[in-house]
Amino acid sequence: FQKLKDGLSKSSRSLTGGIADIFTKRKLDDDTLQDLEDILIQADLGVDTAMRITEKVAAGRYDKEVSPEEVKSVLAEEVSAVLSPLATPLAVDEAHKPFVILTVGVNGSGKTTTIGKLAAQFSREGRSVMLAAGDTFRAAAVEQLKVWGERTGVPVVSRETGADASGLAFDALKQAREERRDVLIIDTAGRLQNKSDLMAELQKIVRVLKKQDETAPHAVLLVLDATTGQNAMNQVDIFQQTAGVTGLVMTKLDGTARGGILVAIADRFGLPIHAIGVGEGVDDLQPFEADAFARAIAG
Ligand code: GDP
Repeated sequence: FQKLKDGLSKSSRSLTGGIADIFTKRKLDDDTLQDLEDILIQADLGVDTAMRITEKVAAGRYDKEVSPEEVKSVLAEEVSAVLSPLATPLAVDEAHKPFVILTVGVNGSGKTTTIGKLAAQFSREGRSVMLAAGDTFRAAAVEQLKVWGERTGVPVVSRETGADASGLAFDALKQAREERRDVLIIDTAGRLQNKSDLMAELQKIVRVLKKQDETAPHAVLLVLDATTGQNAMNQVDIFQQTAGVTGLVMTKLDGTARGGILVAIADRFGLPIHAIGVGEGVDDLQPFEADAFARAIAG
């Protein structure tokens, strides 16, 4: 919890500082409520969430003095109410061998790092893991995944730069089946510059996986970078349409002032939130806990 709390301190400082400024020695009225709604929106919580929190703060308190503590506790409650139903650990269904996880997200969002962290976690649980370097477009991405493979002792299936990603995914699944691996995690390219290419490539990967296992992929994990703020909303939209996202990982929640975006995304899309990234190290992926997140962001 401490790591999450420290990580979200920038996000919470602007919120709690703002709340203290608004409500210290002032009665609750239209102006204070408008100010409150503004700072909640500025904190990326989303317009709907901001309005709901403002209404709840207003209820029964009009013309009264309200302590910043009271407001923060309403904030924490509402954030927790939005997030709690969505906090879902990424569960490996052992009925599938391998359990295939397709990882999607824009370049730089933290896909490769998250895959490395997951590989370490699954290996620690005694599962046999294989990785597929499906971002065949960027040599650096393949190299980086190989580094994670070495670090975690997990084999990485890769091909030369520019190779067909779906062919690689097909071969990786074949090999993982032959070797009776428990989990196969497939990296993908995240070039948003050309949406139709991206869409075609991801859909082709899904199609070829289904040739061997019609239930695959068993999870489509969207990795989002918290520091991109509102942009992350568009990314969810695009990858939802393209790849049928089944759950989210939000990275870089250490040290961003924009952690509130997770609440806006949860409120709008209602997708399961599996885990959060709070650093670059192998142990810096935490299962997502709604209450802890709410407490950390509300200061
Ligand atoms: P990809 O292009 O989506 O595969 O993104 P990478 O995994 O290469 O990550 C991009 C950068 O973000 C790298 O420098 C990572 O070390 C860094 N990164 C990834 N996750 C986190 C995180 O949770 N916190 C921080 N601070 N950095 C992260």
